[in-house]
Amino acid sequence: NRRVILKDYVEGYPREEHMELLPGVEIPLRLTGDEPSGSVLVKNLYLSCDPYMRPRMSRPVRQSYTSAFVPGSVITGYGVSRVLDSSHPSLNPGDLVWGFTGWEDYSVIKPPASNLLSKITHHSGNKDGVPLSYYTGILGMPGLTAYVGFHEICAPQPGESVFVSAASGAVGQLVGQFAKLAGCGPVVGSAGSAEKVGLLTTRFSFDAAFNYKDEEESADLSAALARRFPEGIDIYFENVGGAMLDAALRNMRVHGRVAVCGLISQYNKADADKDAVRSLDAVVTKRLRVQGFIEPDHKHLYPQYEAWVMPYIRDGTIKYVESVAEGLESAPAALIGLFHGRNVGKQLVRVAHE
Ligand code: NDP
Repeated sequence: NRRVILKDYVEGYPREEHMELLPGVEIPLRLTGDEPSGSVLVKNLYLSCDPYMRPRMSRPVRQSYTSAFVPGSVITGYGVSRVLDSSHPSLNPGDLVWGFTGWEDYSVIKPPASNLLSKITHHSGNKDGVPLSYYTGILGMPGLTAYVGFHEICAPQPGESVFVSAASGAVGQLVGQFAKLAGCGPVVGSAGSAEKVGLLTTRFSFDAAFNYKDEEESADLSAALARRFPEGIDIYFENVGGAMLDAALRNMRVHGRVAVCGLISQYNKADADKDAVRSLDAVVTKRLRVQGFIEPDHKHLYPQYEAWVMPYIRDGTIKYVESVAEGLESAPAALIGLFHGRNVGKQLVRVAHE
């Protein structure tokens, strides 16, 4: 059983030497009986790389909704796994599950974590033809995040204008497509490369897109937005923070909504270096609703979301692009890549073949 551990707390950008792949040790491929009742032994198939894992690598200084990783311990995160052995009443050997697991070949998941594993019933192994890896993305945590953030927090109306930052990523590519399905427009996204900008309009049905790193655009992000939204932005789906948040606030329409999903541009900065938001006056003058949210608060909506999105996946209405890194050994680099924009679409790691 090979494992990826966090070696020490991270300051600044995470690097490969902050993590270590420990060589495999033989483990019994069944529960020993010493585990608490309700435990499962799983073989991990896919692991999800998610931006929130970076704050978990910092030395814990304040209460957060996620706990910090412990140096020397296996990194944990979302994944897709096959149950090999179980003392859980509703999970049986052979079942496929998604939920919290370890960055290792095999994991023993104990209660209460094992109670949060979701059984996968639709996948490529049966007639549904839905890739199993989708449970790290569109059918997993990022999918529910996009659904809750857009439909519940933004309360979109047909014809409203929508701006999405980090728009080609795991969450952003879905928000754009959900916005078009809701009759919104114009729907505009920003991303950090020509390839990503191309995907936004050709695959993810955005009306327009721009590369925020282009010199002309980055020199004045507010002007870049004003060009695309001459009448202002009704809905801003915020994934990055920093200068982009300021530019978006400047361009919001009266009574606009800002769903604050994440602030990835700030995750590698010490508190003292974090960007100040200079345009908060716009919240008052434009009577904006700015609301943060986290996906775990909305888990109860998953069945509703899955029933809504599955037909769109099956008939090809909604597209989902993934970057798949091969092998557990590639997991640290894949995670680090998120903070340099190396992923195109949802970043995940294939640990073993289905
Ligand atoms: P992505 O798949 O979008 O990957 C991260 C992307 O962020 C990169 O590819 C890069 O894209 C962009 N990025 C990285 N650094 C910066 C930077 N300094 N400035 C601007 N952009 C940057 O990730 P997700 O879709 O999984 O997550 C998107 C956001 O949503 C994150 O902020 C995340 O924390 C948040 N989130 C929040 C959840 C919640 O419950 N509230 C749940 C899931 C995610 P590019 O090349 O375009 O710059």
